[in-house]
This record gives sequence, C-alpha cells and structure tokens, in this order.
Amino acid sequence: SPALHLQKVQRRYAQGETTLEILRGIDLTLWPGQSVALIAPSGAGKSTLLHLAGLLERPDGGEIYVGDQPTAHMDDAERTALRRLEIGFVYQFHHLLPEFSATENVMLPQMIRGLGRAEARRRAEELLAFLGLGQRLSHRPGMLSGGEQQRVAIARAVANTPRVLLADEPTGNLDPKTADHVFAVLTEIVRASGLAALVATHNLELARRMDRRVTLRDGLLVELE
Ligand code: ADP
Ligand code: ADP
Repeated sequence: SPALHLQKVQRRYAQGETTLEILRGIDLTLWPGQSVALIAPSGAGKSTLLHLAGLLERPDGGEIYVGDQPTAHMDDAERTALRRLEIGFVYQFHHLLPEFSATENVMLPQMIRGLGRAEARRRAEELLAFLGLGQRLSHRPGMLSGGEQQRVAIARAVANTPRVLLADEPTGNLDPKTADHVFAVLTEIVRASGLAALVATHNLELARRMDRRVTLRDGLLVELE
C-alpha cells in the first residue's frame, strides 16, 4: 500500500469576511522508497500541506491515509500516537537539543517510544555513520557545521523508522554545496530505508534529485516534469 495517501484534501482559512481556499482538493500518493519535491511560491500552501500530511492539523475535507490507516475519524490522541510511530519531520532549522551529543539527540525519540538505551544507541550510531557522521558521534550540535547539524536532524527524524518523512525547506539555511550534499544523503536514506519523503524546497536543481516533482496551483496539486 502507499506510505501516504491524500484524497481530496481541503483546507480553508477565514480571512475577515472572505474565506481563503488554500487547498481545494489535494490528491497525492507517496509510495515507499519514493521522494517527492514540493515546489511552489511562498503562500501557495506548502507548509499547510505538510502540517496536514503530518497530522498536525486537520483538513476541512477529504481523507489522509498513513499506510492503510484512514485518519479523519481519529481523535487527537490517536493521531499523535500514529504521528510518533509513522512520521518524521525535518525543518529548515535543526532544532537539536544543544546539551546533548549527536548520538543522544538521535537516541531520544527512540527512547521516548520505549526502546532500551543500548538498542537506541546502536541504531543512532549506525544511522549517523550511514550519514557520514561516524566521526562526530559525541559532538554537541554547537560543535558541528550547518550541514552536519542537518544530517543529525535527518537521522533523528528517521530513527524510529517512520513510513513518511516530511521536510520543510531542509536546506534553506545552507550554502549550495552543503545543501547539495544534505539532499544527496536525504535521497540515499529514503531509498535505503524504503520510507517515502515529501520535501518542500525552492531549489529546482536539488528537486531534480528527487523521484517526482509537484507544485500547488490554485489550491490543486500539479505534477511537474
Ligand atoms: P507556504 O508554506 O507555501 O508559504 P502556507 O501554507 O504557509 O504557504 O500558507 C498558505 C496561505 O495560507 C498563506 O496565504 C497564509 O497566509 C495562509 N495561512 C496559513 N496558515 C494560516 C492560519 N492559521 N490562518 C489564516 N491563514 C493562514
Ligand atoms: P513530541 O513527541 O515532542 O511531543 P509530537 O508527537 O507532538 O511531539 O510531534 C511530533 C513531531 O511533530 C515533532 O518532530 C515535533 O517537532 C513536530 N511538531 C509538533 N507540533 C508541531 C507544530 N505545531 N508545528 C510543527 N511541527 C510540530
């Protein structure tokens, strides 16, 4: 089954007397192992779409399936539980905990889920090594470069083997060369782990690295070449 499936998803905001129809019926299917770039101008609704897909907000219409589970009928606690299990987030800024090492930052979500310390550490070190950070395990975020910080954030986001990775401008704060490297390891880990990624970006060149490119036009999703 798809990793993530949006069916006729709608979102509108009241703005004074009028209603802003941000998303008018989004249909999107992400398959396991697939990376999709979401490219659209500011204000088009990218963050709204990512928040809906991440079960952080509720749509005004339509249905969102995570794996084969429909979510519209779920209460907040069920949605949070499903989010923690199945969805990883990466943001423009890494939001790592400054007092913890790279390894500990990646261990944390696993331990919150209930994994033992040793197992969480083993998984964290393996992931960080895969992302080229084998020599940075005990560094705190402040001791890492911007690109290294984002790679730790990616490791943290996929530590619990989610079905879906959602990223909002993950390289927006990096220089072009570093951004290119971070995108490369991101797509690599998507393919290697079989998760599905939806990545909002302004960078068309980096979007070329992804399997598919989509945009938002008048509240609808359009596939790009
Ligand atoms: P993008 O991420 O593509 O820049 P957003 O999803 O952040 O776009 O916003 C899309 C539109 O929805 C914008 O016009 C924004 O002002 C509006 N919007 C976003 N969140 C809210 C909100 N909570 N209330 C009212 N309007 C909102
Ligand atoms: P936590 O496990 O820290 O309580 P949640 O389960 O509520 O967090 O959310 C899981 C992920 O969603 C985390 O990565 C968190 O940073 C992110 N998140 C939570 N609320 C928001 C929000 N309002 N906007 C953007 N991201 C959020």
